[in-house]
Amino acid sequence: MPIILVLVVMLLTPVPGWTAQIYSRSDLVRFQSRIIDYSSRINPRFQKRVRASTKLIIVHTSELGLESTLRVVSRGKQFKNGSSTPGGHANYVVARNGMVYRILDKQYRADHAGLSMWNGVSNVSDISVGIEFVGYHYAPLTDSQYRSARQLLFILKRAYGLRDKDILTHSQIAYGRPNPWFPKNHRGRKRCAKNFDRIRAGLGSTWPYDPDVMAGRLTPDPILVQVFYSDPNIAVYTGKKAPQVLASDVISKLNSAWAIAGEDYDAPNTVYVLPGGKTLAGDRVAARLGWDHLPVGTKVILNQETEQIPEQAESIIKTISGRMTAWSHAGAAYHAPSTIYFLPSDRILTGCAISDWDDLPIGTRLVVGYKGSFDVTKDKTAYKIAGAKYKAPGTIYHIPGRGPVQGDRISDFSDLPEGTGIYLPINP
Ligand SMILES: [Zn+2]
Repeated sequence: MPIILVLVVMLLTPVPGWTAQIYSRSDLVRFQSRIIDYSSRINPRFQKRVRASTKLIIVHTSELGLESTLRVVSRGKQFKNGSSTPGGHANYVVARNGMVYRILDKQYRADHAGLSMWNGVSNVSDISVGIEFVGYHYAPLTDSQYRSARQLLFILKRAYGLRDKDILTHSQIAYGRPNPWFPKNHRGRKRCAKNFDRIRAGLGSTWPYDPDVMAGRLTPDPILVQVFYSDPNIAVYTGKKAPQVLASDVISKLNSAWAIAGEDYDAPNTVYVLPGGKTLAGDRVAARLGWDHLPVGTKVILNQETEQIPEQAESIIKTISGRMTAWSHAGAAYHAPSTIYFLPSDRILTGCAISDWDDLPIGTRLVVGYKGSFDVTKDKTAYKIAGAKYKAPGTIYHIPGRGPVQGDRISDFSDLPEGTGIYLPINP
């Protein structure tokens, strides 16, 4: 048989768990050549070890923007008490725009799953490839991420002879040790990637039940049961959309701290932003407030290494930093016309002009729930535009070269430079 024909036959031969997706050899070569090799940035303290076997692929959501995700997975996590991890927390990172970064060659063990078990086998990091998607578990991943996921998973499944059901989310395989609320080892430690849509990722059949819960090794988590195992048809792929439960990061009667954060609810790097802007780290809620007193409307932010949020939470003008993305500040309102972005270049964009929250550069400032701009001219003074509230902190001035400034920080209103624009709150 001519060599080309052999290749075509090889590519068209179904492998276990094969789904409809078929890639030509050149598709795959092109995809692999575009992977950005980030492996030289790995923390030198990280010790590379080849995995003895590969039985699973585990997907995660990073709960951070791209730059912070790349730094944390390669260099390690920093904790407030001064301790740190040596990095190597993923084999791949998939950015919001679909770009794939190789953090650690797929043959090496990445330290990504923590306390974990699947089908009676614990320490899942020892037997799995880890893929980190830039995003939040309560918000959708992008089309570009799923497009890359399909090719990457296709390649990895073929390399290791894996089936679709061998691809699982971190929330499915993580477990927690007994604690005052859960007397036994239990699921629900992580919510990571519970928004991962298997069908959009080109995956078919999966587990209709959790084998460790079924065998009595772990107690179930009601939220994860609902997300992953409530659809009786999911064992045999029927084309029906996978159940998608996209809860929010805001506490309500139906959405508890536990539902949002899993066992990270009381972690020092989980931050609660109370209505009004006061913040509390997860490890201080019990002593300072009490879990029963967390008000409805409190926002839960995961993976915060530092205490930089307090200033952020109270200010009307938010700043995009390594830790705080447009999504963590504004949620789904990031692409609302009433969210105004002031870029470091002095450009101004409304949310409608943003294709994804992770496209905005660090240092971008934003206000949520605003209209404008109303340009200040000789005839149209600040007072004429904003009325008695022209000096109020909620009245935002964009002064060319100075970026956005709150009304109470301006000393001389008679001398506003040409090009100054005013933004007014929609609900003052
Ligand atoms: Zn994870």
